[in-house]
Amino acid sequence: MGDQPRIGVLALQGAFREHARALRRLGAEVVEVRLPEELEGLDGLVIPGGESTTIMRLARIYGLDEAIQNFPGAILGTCAGMIVLDRRHLGLADLEVDRNAYGRQVWSFEADVEFEGDELPLHGVFIRAPRARELGPGVEVLGELEGEPVLVRDDRLLLATFHPELTDDLRVHELFLQMAEEAASVRSL
Ligand code: GLN
Repeated sequence: MGDQPRIGVLALQGAFREHARALRRLGAEVVEVRLPEELEGLDGLVIPGGESTTIMRLARIYGLDEAIQNFPGAILGTCAGMIVLDRRHLGLADLEVDRNAYGRQVWSFEADVEFEGDELPLHGVFIRAPRARELGPGVEVLGELEGEPVLVRDDRLLLATFHPELTDDLRVHELFLQMAEEAASVRSL
């Protein structure tokens, strides 16, 4: 990997521009990914929030489902992007994610999320947020809201039920870039 990590943002649907902006602010080179070959040579990939059924449908049409399953770099999935990565979809993350799991009364909300290893909480923007359950033994909880996991890491995957790209706090993206560097150095061993 060169000085700058190269990160793809899956740009089929949803909040991909906001992720691209956050990553560029941290010095990453960002490319929008719409075709399988665009994954080549990337250190990481972001699957943004949006509508998981639409993202899955478009990914299948373009052959990106299989390409993402074979992608060796780090992956950040937020909200719908987290759903797409679970056992019942692409099967990359060892957990299950229930869609729209907070009910209509709290369809969307903002709340402080306790962030592992940091005194300062993350400000979580939750939009028709999913809930993670049945976490596999290798899944590490990095962020909690009322005792529930909302930010988790499974090896080279980082998953958030909320939208870190919608705030100015870049700590989740920063962690993701570190993971992309780690995954790249493991591959070059
Ligand atoms: N509710 C959406 C879904 O099921 C996810 C919402 C979001 O990404 N903000 O895909």
